[in-house]
Amino acid sequence: MKILVPVKRVVDYNVKVRVKPDESGVDLANVKMSMNPFCEIAIEEAIRLREGGTASEIIVVSVGEQAAQETIRTGLAMGADRGILVKSDAALEPLGIAKILKAVIEAEQVDLVILGKQAIDGDNNQTGQMLAALLGWSQGTFASDLKIAGEKIDVTREIDGGLQTISLKMPAIITTDLRLNEPRYASLPNIMKAKKKPIDIKELSEYGVDASPRLEILKVAEPASREAGVVVESVAELVDKLKNEAGVF
Ligand code: AMP
Repeated sequence: MKILVPVKRVVDYNVKVRVKPDESGVDLANVKMSMNPFCEIAIEEAIRLREGGTASEIIVVSVGEQAAQETIRTGLAMGADRGILVKSDAALEPLGIAKILKAVIEAEQVDLVILGKQAIDGDNNQTGQMLAALLGWSQGTFASDLKIAGEKIDVTREIDGGLQTISLKMPAIITTDLRLNEPRYASLPNIMKAKKKPIDIKELSEYGVDASPRLEILKVAEPASREAGVVVESVAELVDKLKNEAGVF
């Protein structure tokens, strides 16, 4: 079984993002970039499936600038077998990404695709779902557990107030939630080995898909800053403030 793991290069989750003064987007100049954390979980799950004998090959794919090669290399150092970079300098929307991924999947003849549930930059939570629709494949989103038996995958999903377990038929699309696993760190020998693993570099135009934008970002703004709190002397004063100032009761 071949597994494809699409990974996105995003602003590192530890970085406090700054909005550009003209409110057109986020300032990416000199900002640390990393693999989207949910994509790391996707790679970890694919590696576990290979270690358990279910998967034979793991291909990591990223659509983005030349620098997204580093993100693919991180996936190879974790244990994936080879990479594909689809080069595009434009910021693509989930529908465009899903169309490109569909073309890659058809060219590579993969059986299972494991994506992150969402990219922490755009918070779209759309690519996996759109990809499943375009391919007509079954989908298990927000997975916190996977069990594969032959052509069948049981996916436990994190839903509001509980867990739902569904059974899918392969080929399938899975998107990862936080509790699916804890991704491994790449060891130094594996980082060295990853330098020799192949990365195929493709141009977006090779896939002949229409990835043109469907929406326009009007404005990006910082969240409203929190007002300073007040220290109260007693419970009575707290209750009074809640009642008369905050309007809680
Ligand atoms: P999103 O729908 O943008 O929140 O992203 C969900 C998932 O889709 C990510 O965790 C990735 O697995 C995949 N994805 C999104 N954008 C890209 C990209 N540019 N290249 C490869 N995979 C992507």
